[in-house]
Amino acid sequence: MLPENFQFSQGSLQDFSDCKRRFELRYLRRLSWPALESEPALESEQHLQQGERFHLLVHQYLLGVPSGKLTAMLQDDEVAAWWSAFLSFAAVLDGKTRYPEFSLSAPLNDFRLVGKYDLVVVNQDQAYIYDWKTSRRKPRRAWLAERLQTRVYPYLLVRAGAHLNQGKPFLPENVHMTYWYAGHTEQPELFDYSDEQYLKDEAFLTELLTTIQGLGEGEFPLTSDVQRCLYCVYRSLCERGVGAGELEAIEEDLEAGQGLDLVFDFEQIAEIEF
Ligand code: SF4
Repeated sequence: MLPENFQFSQGSLQDFSDCKRRFELRYLRRLSWPALESEPALESEQHLQQGERFHLLVHQYLLGVPSGKLTAMLQDDEVAAWWSAFLSFAAVLDGKTRYPEFSLSAPLNDFRLVGKYDLVVVNQDQAYIYDWKTSRRKPRRAWLAERLQTRVYPYLLVRAGAHLNQGKPFLPENVHMTYWYAGHTEQPELFDYSDEQYLKDEAFLTELLTTIQGLGEGEFPLTSDVQRCLYCVYRSLCERGVGAGELEAIEEDLEAGQGLDLVFDFEQIAEIEF
């Protein structure tokens, strides 16, 4: 069922965990479906574009474009506030080796696992993964801890990042992952990695891929959690409703740790390209 050259990403694995049918429609049938993920449409679209602009600004800065030049180009107040917060934070990155918009991949089962990082910083034998988040509300730590991204990124860096560490794989305990919220800079979420977690993640990801590999056509059921369908572009195809959920409600649920799977972040969309 899976194409021979299929590549798994945290995004596709998250989709599978959230709804097997969504994984099938999006990654196997590669079906585009013209439905809104949330209402009001204009606000959702604008928020996505703001997130994209912020990621681009940070990327340009990390590539060496002077901050003053980037600041002068800003026209959006919310992006400007995020940018100003980032500049206050950016001093901690000075003097360290930085890899912005960096991709890694490693074989897993018969396929490849890929990851696209916003930023990896290396300082001596320590590796720091940064993920920029622009959602207006900050999810609970427990919800973030369960995300596939929190498991895949550190795991993949240990598995495939030796070339960033003079040819030696990073020790799991030397890998640290931070979700940095542009609108909540006082509360970044840091997850330190460990040997124990690395072994757990390897077993978990191997089993997850084995499960997916074992499924044939017609074996990707619709989620039983119909709440997820409210914010899914395939809801009319699945006959799970027509109208989209409200953006504000999504973010409230996210903050309350309700586990809704739609996160308005640019990288989430970029990952679908894998
Ligand atoms: S509408 Fe619901 S069942 Fe259909 S793909 Fe989306 S989340 Fe899954």
